[in-house]
Amino acid sequence: MLSGKNYIAGEWLDGPDVFQADNPATGEKLPTKFQQGTEQHVDQAARAANECAEEFASMSPAKRAGFLRACADEIDARGDELTEMGNLESALPPARLQGERGRTVGQLRFFADWIEEGSWFEARIETAQPDRAPLPKPDIRSMFKALGPVGVFGASNFPLAFSVAGGDTASALAAGCPVVFKAHAAHPGTSEIVAQAIDAAIKKTGMPKGVFSMVHGGGRVVGQSLVAHPMIKAVGFTGSTGGGRALFDIAVSRPEPIPFYGELGSNNPVYLMPNAMKKNAAGIAKAWAGSLTMGVGQFCTNPGLLLALKGDDIDTFVTTAVEELGGVASQAMLTDRVSSAYHDVNDAMAKHPKVTCALKRRDGDGPFEGSPAVYRVSAADWEANPELAEEMFGPAGIIIECDSTDQILAISAKLHGQLTATIQMDDADAEFAGKLRPLLEKCAGRILVNGWPTGVEVCHSMVHGGPYPASTDSRATSVGSLAIKRFVRPVAYQAFADALLPDALKDGNPLNIPRLVDGKWQMPK
Ligand code: NAP
Repeated sequence: MLSGKNYIAGEWLDGPDVFQADNPATGEKLPTKFQQGTEQHVDQAARAANECAEEFASMSPAKRAGFLRACADEIDARGDELTEMGNLESALPPARLQGERGRTVGQLRFFADWIEEGSWFEARIETAQPDRAPLPKPDIRSMFKALGPVGVFGASNFPLAFSVAGGDTASALAAGCPVVFKAHAAHPGTSEIVAQAIDAAIKKTGMPKGVFSMVHGGGRVVGQSLVAHPMIKAVGFTGSTGGGRALFDIAVSRPEPIPFYGELGSNNPVYLMPNAMKKNAAGIAKAWAGSLTMGVGQFCTNPGLLLALKGDDIDTFVTTAVEELGGVASQAMLTDRVSSAYHDVNDAMAKHPKVTCALKRRDGDGPFEGSPAVYRVSAADWEANPELAEEMFGPAGIIIECDSTDQILAISAKLHGQLTATIQMDDADAEFAGKLRPLLEKCAGRILVNGWPTGVEVCHSMVHGGPYPASTDSRATSVGSLAIKRFVRPVAYQAFADALLPDALKDGNPLNIPRLVDGKWQMPK
């Protein structure tokens, strides 16, 4: 079923070398040989994307929505194949992969509905006032237009929802931008099956061939040449802080700098408020252990940092969490690199003179093994040792024990950018939570009360982003309908004849979309 080839504008192409994916559960190579991508593949894909960019951007929302829905249907039609291959390549359990597929196809259909609804165009019309004194006012209309071809990088930890047809691809295609996708070398087979689904959808809905290409990894050159390519006009990335930063630097150093939307690392602070802890320290600990170990902790929203007051309640919390986590079996992590990085950071944490290790296991010698870990540190030592704030990508957490609520607030004022911040609170903690909220608004993209940050709802109000290093652009989200805004820019049209205007701005409102006319919203009929 798998060709192992690069998918470039409708053609399946060989590369100069081959590679094989690992099976994380066994540490052995999987049989399929994949053709490495090259700079030439990137160039071919970017040119084809550029050639069809105007046609794709100007297409009616209904036609583009039809393409997105066809992608979703084709992915669903390959559901069992995807679950089997995804499990072999990532060691993620079938139920998780089925759920992730549901999220992926749901997201494609969500964006299809959203572009048909039409408010994302933000069509604005100011009608002319030829008699205005002292100067006449011209007719000026504006709307969002697609940026052009977008480069997308998938992450290893979501082989479907943040990969080939994941959120970045879905939002770029929805905006009217052709996509050149850099496949992650950890799941090339899963990537190819999704690319086959998109190929079928392109054929069924009569899309131009350049609208989507997928280049396999082949060393850093593929990713770097994609970001540097002059025909690529924006990039969506999910992955490591180091990789994201290196590619961001390329994007902004090009002769024509382009926006780079990197969703990077986060340790997602959780505030264990005093009254909530007094009432239910053990219950909160159990729930935390569940969130921390979901997907072997390989989520960018994993709650890896906790802040609490010193005392009996946090002791109860740690004892319960260690009991719970002690019973969670070790599991294979996604890649050798993810597992090695996890063990390195845990070894450093356990040896750190200022850190108390409450739990650290290594149940097997397999290169991909990952087990839960819990550390404790005083607030003063955490502040004095910045290396302790490093993301531990896996099922590990560190608890910062504070002397006072003022110390919690002082630390919070200095936290670097986060995807999420969570408050575990009781009604009696409301005053403290009220003081915390403005500090968390400054550092986090999403603030939760009495929930857990793992599990990101795809909806209109979701924000999955945050100040650096959570993301490279604090104004953006990579999940939810606002994600489309990353791949469009506003264009104003002054004194255009109606026939020359894009449909979204024509007098008769042929797309039947909401528009702001002379400062008042007009809803479709
Ligand atoms: P990654 O190493 O950042 O890789 C993501 C993608 O970017 C891959 O396709 C990779 O290509 C490419 N890439 C990375 N650095 C590059 C560079 N300097 N030049 C060109 N291309 C580059 O992320 P990962 O493999 O998914 O996971 C590794 C670590 O990232 C984890 O241990 C974790 O710390 C973090 N992570 C964060 C998130 C998140 O959601 N924020 C998700 C997953 C992982 P190559 O494979 O060809 O290098």
